[in-house]
Amino acid sequence: MATSSGPRWEHAVVTGGAGFVGSHLCAALLDEGVAVTCVDDFSTGRRENVSALLGRPDFALLEANVSEPFHVDRPPDLVLHFASPASPADYLRLPLHTLEVGSLGTRNALGVAHGSGARFVLASTSEVYGDPQEHPQNERYWGNVNPVGPRSVYDEAKRFGEALTTAEASAHGTDTAIVRLFNTYGPRMRGYDGRAVPTFIRQALAGEPLTVTGDGLQTRSLCYVDDTVRGILATAAHTMRGPVNLGNPTEITMLDLARWIVELTGSRSEIRFIERPTDDPAVRCPDITLARDKLQWEPVVQAEEGLRRTIAWFREHGAAESPAPRL
Ligand code: NAD
Repeated sequence: MATSSGPRWEHAVVTGGAGFVGSHLCAALLDEGVAVTCVDDFSTGRRENVSALLGRPDFALLEANVSEPFHVDRPPDLVLHFASPASPADYLRLPLHTLEVGSLGTRNALGVAHGSGARFVLASTSEVYGDPQEHPQNERYWGNVNPVGPRSVYDEAKRFGEALTTAEASAHGTDTAIVRLFNTYGPRMRGYDGRAVPTFIRQALAGEPLTVTGDGLQTRSLCYVDDTVRGILATAAHTMRGPVNLGNPTEITMLDLARWIVELTGSRSEIRFIERPTDDPAVRCPDITLARDKLQWEPVVQAEEGLRRTIAWFREHGAAESPAPRL
């Protein structure tokens, strides 16, 4: 780790760095003066997400599947393991890939961190809580996950990744942390990735009906990506192991979100109710007491502002097509 007068780290490896959250992380680290190696196989990410960074001498892009052993030329002092399909549409399309990157990929990324004495941060998820029977969810809740349900490839991969990260810290003394991210949204999401915010924005901008699942009364808490990235880097800079919840505790129903996006886009789209997916959680809301107390972190971007910024980005860039299945 670099001195307090300079950047916090010298060289960070970001797996999944060409994805939605990863690309914002890469940019934030570079802005702090940290050299970055982004490792990505473009299974769900896009080269365009990092194209603005490619000309920078302190940025390197390594195209590799982290579920196979990979090597970075320069030893890092920080490894952020963010590689994994994250949207239900992606992990249902890539079930074995998702299980592999949560297990083998996490093991390989931990190996890179251990080999260079780097701090390691695992991107885990609120999905480890499954369809929660406690509300809001704090880090002591163990979750309610169906191990053979359709979402299990993601939920259980992340739960295994947490177990592996914990075991690695105790077995090898690797300096590890686990962040449990709740729904994050913002620019560079793909319009066809199936998540509510980009789907509704794409539909509203195209004048198509907004497809709300079930009765739309299920809630999510939405955190703007800049807030999430700030929380991840605060965890990385801290000594805490976690797991720590990072999310926005303000809940919104999917129906209200759809109506709000119609209003903010000035769209004439109507709302159409469609079938709700199996095992879709009814509620999801983080208890962020731990992050507030230990990291002095909490979200600051109001939902309206975050949605406006995201809508502006979609207006400018359009809804990128979902990449064709490669695996
Ligand atoms: P994303 O799909 O946009 O990004 C994931 C990136 O990982 C992509 O660039 C993809 O190509 C890459 N990747 C996947 N498998 C890989 C492999 N085997 N080898 C190398 N690269 C691989 O998803 P995201 O929303 O940016 O999520 C990033 C991370 O944050 C994921 O680990 C996800 O589980 C976690 N997370 C995200 C959210 C959210 O709301 N966005 C919530 C909870 C957790």
